[in-house]
Amino acid sequence: MKHVTLPNGERVPALGMGTWNMGDDRATRAEEIATLRLGLDLGLRLIDTAEMYGEGLSESLIGEAIAGRRDEVFLVSKVYPHNASRRGIAAACERSLRRLGTDWLDLYLLHWRGDVPFEDTLEGLQALQRDGKIRQYGVSNLDLSDMDEWWDTPGGDQTAVNQLLYNLSRRGIEWDVLPWLRERRVPVMAYSPIEQARLVRHPKLVRFAQESGMTPAQVALAWLLANDDIIAIPKTGHRDRLRENIGALSHTLTAEQLATLDSIFPPPKGPRALEML
Ligand code: NAP
Repeated sequence: MKHVTLPNGERVPALGMGTWNMGDDRATRAEEIATLRLGLDLGLRLIDTAEMYGEGLSESLIGEAIAGRRDEVFLVSKVYPHNASRRGIAAACERSLRRLGTDWLDLYLLHWRGDVPFEDTLEGLQALQRDGKIRQYGVSNLDLSDMDEWWDTPGGDQTAVNQLLYNLSRRGIEWDVLPWLRERRVPVMAYSPIEQARLVRHPKLVRFAQESGMTPAQVALAWLLANDDIIAIPKTGHRDRLRENIGALSHTLTAEQLATLDSIFPPPKGPRALEML
């Protein structure tokens, strides 16, 4: 397994497991749980979830999948912006912990910016950290100006990651927020790394993948994994696709292949509003 180093020196897997929409449908539940367990067996120890996903259904499913294996997992969850006040975040975290069947989260993220002042959210996160309920905290969907403001709020400079939409077809962050985070050694956790499966059907990527002896999903993930400071969290509820996605780790893209991908998916030529899904 390739690893990424967080600002506190902790190493986490560069490839983890997303869980949006997992737990929504009883018919697919058993395969989803089997997929998460197989992922742990194969080294994908990082699991990303949020209180928003199925309004707790995803966290409950993960709780079942990791029962008896908590110590193997680097568990990430996210708080709704409207719950991110000092008192609200304590209650929201408690509900997430109960659903996940654990006493602590490894990383707790503000899901996106809402109306609660950053100061209150950061006080709440630091209180949770002092109480041992969360080990680290971070943010998601913060653009450059939000990130600047967050960083200048007391405790903001202890941020472990910014979880952002980032994949071959969504490269806007390379213009500003990614370099800003790099200067501060804050990794990006890239969400929707295969663009919610749309990249798998992209004709030019399909051709490139065939010529390279990879699948399109593997190319999309290998492109992210070519960086030392990007954590990719693809979601799949199928064991065969999980095995396929892990295969990305066996492929290192050459400089020539990276240049070809740049011509198919050009990097930004100027600032763009932060994209979200
Ligand atoms: P994604 O991981 O890019 O794509 C997931 C979709 O691709 C699913 O429909 C999955 O279907 C399919 N898939 C996975 N592997 C495949 C493969 N090898 N071949 C073909 N299809 C494949 O999109 P995402 O779920 O939006 O993003 C990943 C995770 O990031 C989420 O689950 C969530 O944890 C996180 N996220 C965070 C935010 C945020 O605001 N912070 C926003 C979006 C997502 P099956 O499951 O049926 O295989």
